[in-house]
Amino acid sequence: MVNSFQVQDRFAAGAQYIDGQLRPGSSGKTQDVVDPATGKVVFSYETAGAADVDAAVAAARAAFPGWSAATPGERSDALHRFAAVLAERAEEFAYAESLQCGKPIKLSREFDVPGTVDNASFFAGAARHLQGQSAGEYSGDHTSYVRREPIGVVGSIAPWNYPLQMAAWKVLPAIAAGNTIVLKPAEITPLTSLMFAQAATEAGIPDGVVNIVNGLGKEAGEHLVGHPDVVMTSFTGSTAVGKRVAEIATDTVKRIHLELGGKAPFLVFDDADLEAAVHGAVAGSLINTGQDCTAATRAYVQRPLYDAFVEGVAALMSTLRLGDPFDESTDLGPLVSHAQRDRVAAFVERARGYARVVTGGAAPEGDGAYYLPTLIADAAQDSEIVQAEIFGPVLVVLPFDSDDEGIALANDTPYGLASSAWTRDVFRANRATREIQAGCVWVNDHIPIISEMPHGGYKASGFGKDMSVYSFEEYTQVKHVMYDNTAVARKDWHRTIFGDR
Ligand code: NAD
Repeated sequence: MVNSFQVQDRFAAGAQYIDGQLRPGSSGKTQDVVDPATGKVVFSYETAGAADVDAAVAAARAAFPGWSAATPGERSDALHRFAAVLAERAEEFAYAESLQCGKPIKLSREFDVPGTVDNASFFAGAARHLQGQSAGEYSGDHTSYVRREPIGVVGSIAPWNYPLQMAAWKVLPAIAAGNTIVLKPAEITPLTSLMFAQAATEAGIPDGVVNIVNGLGKEAGEHLVGHPDVVMTSFTGSTAVGKRVAEIATDTVKRIHLELGGKAPFLVFDDADLEAAVHGAVAGSLINTGQDCTAATRAYVQRPLYDAFVEGVAALMSTLRLGDPFDESTDLGPLVSHAQRDRVAAFVERARGYARVVTGGAAPEGDGAYYLPTLIADAAQDSEIVQAEIFGPVLVVLPFDSDDEGIALANDTPYGLASSAWTRDVFRANRATREIQAGCVWVNDHIPIISEMPHGGYKASGFGKDMSVYSFEEYTQVKHVMYDNTAVARKDWHRTIFGDR
């Protein structure tokens, strides 16, 4: 375990990473980073103000001509080196991620960090495969082709639930395509994004290509989104803040990519493997203490399996080991903050008035921001606990009768990020994958992601894709180039302006 690095010493120069250098923020405000497992402050830093955002955007702008002119092969080489540096530093990243988020160390080590390394190596390869449409003589008299070009300085904003992976998802496709970037992580989890940017520099990615501003959403965030030299806003976070970000970005005519909240349905048909569904529901709802935008949050179970499913999930939930995130046997860490824990607890308290808490529903004694894995039954489809994003270790379970009803219920929230269908019947599975309105439908599993496949929402979960080559649609623009092939002064089509046929 790497516990030798002292965060305060490591970032003594400040928590802004601009033009390849750490520096302090100039807002005049200080932000604490708290270990949610203990409630202790592990780091304090001066947040970014408008001047720091301006400096970061200026650095990104200055780096753009050189980086965008690098060949795909050169960018690919740099990204391969980046992946190697991230892999070398794996244990340090896992430690810092668990410290600032309270994630069990086994989750940081086996999911967050390897996923980030894999993303970097995926984009190292993908950088060489940016494609435009093939050339052709579509008019007869001209040759047309499409150039796929980077767009410029990207401004990105990320949430606190997977800070390292969110930095990777924002930065890697943007820079693989030749853009430069200013990323604002969530203010309570600044550490691994800074380390990620430092690793980029160590890998030889030029100064100014990757910049990090750590500051408050209303201050640094809004200034970044409204900045006239930023051509695109890529935002991951809540739907409420996403709407605000979209408003500001629209005012300055920016390209917008929004990855917003989720309320994933988990649809269990009566022919499903019950044991698999029970395990899938517990793992899928409690990963990262339920602070996962794709987490299973609403289990709909066809009536014949309903009682056994509720009993099985409650029993399995009660076996999970809550504890010190750095203990390798800990299954469930605290929530990211005491404020988030209290928010989750308030949802459950309100639900007691109209639903039944089957298991959990309480915060254990102690200083950490822990909350017991919670299963809620007997809630109405239109109730808050079924409709709103809770972002904690809380699963709601509801019965359904016909397949039509199950699919309709699964689609009945404003969100559409992820979903799963549990069945051994290929026709039911195929129907569910067609009819569920979400950016991802898993069949007989829930949660796995992979660099080659797109991640993004339908409906109020946003638009645009992270990961995969589809993300290049966000981070590039296409240009039509058209050559005249006739070499005549008076072209045939000119007759529409002067002369006759
Ligand atoms: P949040 O919306 O509160 O904050 C996200 C980011 O926006 C933070 O960096 C914050 O500082 C910044 N911000 C806040 N107000 C702002 C403003 N006015 N202008 C500009 N920036 C502002 O979200 P959170 O609580 O950090 O994260 C949880 C949310 O993120 C959940 O809703 C979750 O579903 C969502 N999320 C979505 C995905 C996805 O891929 N769709 C992935 C992870 C998290």
